[in-house]
Amino acid sequence: MLDSNCPPERAPARPGWVYLVGAGPGDAELLTVRALRLLGAADVLVYDNLVSQSVLACVPDGVERIYVGKKASQHALPQGQINQLLVDLARQGRKVVRLKGGDPYIFGRGGEEVEELVNAGVPFEVVPGITAASGISAYAGIPLTHRDFAQACVFVTGHLQDGSVGLDWDMLARPRQTLVFYMGITQLPAICDQLVAHGLPASTPAAVVRRGTQSAQKVVTSDLGHLAEAVKAAGIVPPALTIVGDVVGLQARLAWFQPEEAS
Ligand code: SAH
Repeated sequence: MLDSNCPPERAPARPGWVYLVGAGPGDAELLTVRALRLLGAADVLVYDNLVSQSVLACVPDGVERIYVGKKASQHALPQGQINQLLVDLARQGRKVVRLKGGDPYIFGRGGEEVEELVNAGVPFEVVPGITAASGISAYAGIPLTHRDFAQACVFVTGHLQDGSVGLDWDMLARPRQTLVFYMGITQLPAICDQLVAHGLPASTPAAVVRRGTQSAQKVVTSDLGHLAEAVKAAGIVPPALTIVGDVVGLQARLAWFQPEEAS
């Protein structure tokens, strides 16, 4: 698929292997070289709903595509069946690419799939991808650890298995750190309230980004006291990423990406 052999290919895709590949946050130009090569060499692609159309457009026509999409509350295919599907496809001697949005090991359940492959004795490789936090912050103009404002950056899930948000709020509400909430839109009012209740000023800058890095990217900036309201008014629905911290104050000046649909 790539014209040159630079960088040299380490190992061509092998039959009977599963490649757990990160697709990045949406813009296909953010695929790794390894991901692009494996997409070009796969026999079968197993993917879910976070994988963007522009990435799917890089998959050659002859590759069989199996959609196992997941949304926050519904699973198109239960995780156990996805795990079994990967094992079965590999045992048929196929070159399997399991493609996941962002990075497979960041809130992506990639660890569970690989555990199953290990149990079944199926050989595999893991290809990291650009996770939503770094891809989206770069495109939206939010330097996550600008040293004038933050000494730490915490990736947090806003969606627990039982639907609650039972997080360590005292740890999250500390000063001089950036918080990135994945899957936090349905619980956004509770998240903002808890952060303020545990000591973060209601004036702390905060942003929500939907479909980051894609032509439909939408950014809403506000402060903790008003973010949930602003997001509702903008009609933002999942999937979207929430970033909280003083670094968000740089957004208006540092934004550079012009999504087509906004122009
Ligand atoms: N493995 C993925 C995350 C899966 S959890 C990764 O590394 O990025 C799914 C959550 O990721 C979504 O609910 C949303 O919070 C976030 N997300 C992923 N891609 C996104 C995008 N392009 N724009 C906004 N949020 C995104």
